[in-house]
Amino acid sequence: MAGILVYSEQTGLAEELISYAVSTGKAVTAITFNEEDAGILASCGADVCVVKGASDMPEAYGKALAGFIKDKGIEQVLIGATARGRNLAASIAGYLDCAMASDVSYLQIVGPDLICQRMTYGGLLVSSETLSGISVVTVGPGMFEKQEKAAGTITSLQLDADNRVKLVAREPVVKQGVDLTAADKIVCVGMGMDKEEDLEMVRQLAQSIGAELGCTRGIAEERHWLPPEQYIGISGQVIKPQLYIGIGVSGQVQHVYGVREAKVIVAVNNDEKAPLFKSADYGIVGDMYEVVPLITEAIRNL
Ligand SMILES: Cc1cc2nc3c(=O)[nH]c(=O)nc-3n(C[C@H](O)[C@H](O)[C@H](O)COP(=O)(O)OP(=O)(O)OC[C@H]3O[C@@H](n4cnc5c(N)ncnc54)[C@H](O)[C@@H]3O)c2cc1C
Repeated sequence: MAGILVYSEQTGLAEELISYAVSTGKAVTAITFNEEDAGILASCGADVCVVKGASDMPEAYGKALAGFIKDKGIEQVLIGATARGRNLAASIAGYLDCAMASDVSYLQIVGPDLICQRMTYGGLLVSSETLSGISVVTVGPGMFEKQEKAAGTITSLQLDADNRVKLVAREPVVKQGVDLTAADKIVCVGMGMDKEEDLEMVRQLAQSIGAELGCTRGIAEERHWLPPEQYIGISGQVIKPQLYIGIGVSGQVQHVYGVREAKVIVAVNNDEKAPLFKSADYGIVGDMYEVVPLITEAIRNL
């Protein structure tokens, strides 16, 4: 059974990946650990294997799945780019000692080759790669559209779990911050701010225009002035507001990665050479302690 293997614990993402895999004309096998998903995945045209084993953690099956892929002559492995999927993909690729690319932004399978693109150096470069032989990639949602096809088969697949991987406890992540990804306007504070008490000045501005408060990584992770959910960038939140106002934010590439899709970008910085001005639609060169109260007052007087 040469072909493509697909896995994601997110059903919608698995459907998208199967739909693309089926469109290549290759045989497609999807694995799931959730019996209830089997019919949904099969309806996209994959032959579905419901994994049975001693563990309910997908990452415990990296070695067993590597063996399955080798036995079945599978060429490409498409895995959803979730925390769990990335773990499993790396484990499978490690056991197979094969090519792997993480979080690809473009993917095309042409014969035995997998052509992909992914961002490197914190979003500074897009690298184009062709993976040959057995290849594993992780892919995020939204790259492909789900298509219904003639339903594939559903079978059980007994696999050995690696019992060194154990689930010790489940604890929900307690989120303290707001959901910036849904915010329409965001005022973002950077390390140019001197003291935590000064956040109140920026909060006042945010309130005056009905914006949420965001920050750069250092404000959340070094100074702990705002919760980690509130920092924006490649390792934080990627936002798409109508308006982003960066105050005392230099505009390094890792931060700007998360801001690129804001409709209007405003920068307030006392250094006219701050890189954020290059991405900004409007810029004010000045000291935030003078500029921010003036803007807030002007808006209140509108
Ligand atoms: C792998 C990796 C991932 C990263 N991911 C992220 C990420 O997701 N998000 C993120 O934000 N960062 C991230 N970073 C960090 C990033 O590289 C920058 O260091 C960070 O974004 C800089 O934050 P900043 O602009 O607040 O601080 P700084 O770069 O220190 O800039 C402060 C700015 O404030 C200005 N300023 C100072 N005083 C005033 C004043 N009184 N009035 C007006 N302006 C003033 C200064 O001119 C300066 O431009 C990452 C780094 C790495 C290596």
